[in-house]
Amino acid sequence: MSYQLKPWHEIPIGSIVPEAGSSKLNHTGSWRMLRPVLNYDKCTHCLICWIFCPDDSIPVSPQERFETDFEYCKGCGICAVECPYDALEMVPEMEIKLKELEEEIG
Ligand code: SF4
Ligand code: SF4
Repeated sequence: MSYQLKPWHEIPIGSIVPEAGSSKLNHTGSWRMLRPVLNYDKCTHCLICWIFCPDDSIPVSPQERFETDFEYCKGCGICAVECPYDALEMVPEMEIKLKELEEEIG
């Protein structure tokens, strides 16, 4: 039995993205399990992590890397793997949240 693929103009329309930039509405940081914690003493601001981050969650200037944007960082860990200076450590989000809670309670 042979199977004939449909030409593109006969394929029904699936999902469409009507507006550019709509991914900003998707706060991917909400499902993060691991957080990249930056060691500022080790960071040389080479910006390699910024090149590799698939979510554009690392704000930078031409000279400096700033703190990760945790609204959008989903904790994939690519930045930590690619950092040549071992300046990023992936820490369980729950561990950080518990520590913050303990500090808040006192
Ligand atoms: S790759 Fe590592 S050393 Fe380079 S800017 Fe990112 S965290 Fe800093
Ligand atoms: S963990 Fe992933 S999403 Fe978050 S800053 Fe690193 S590369 Fe980007």
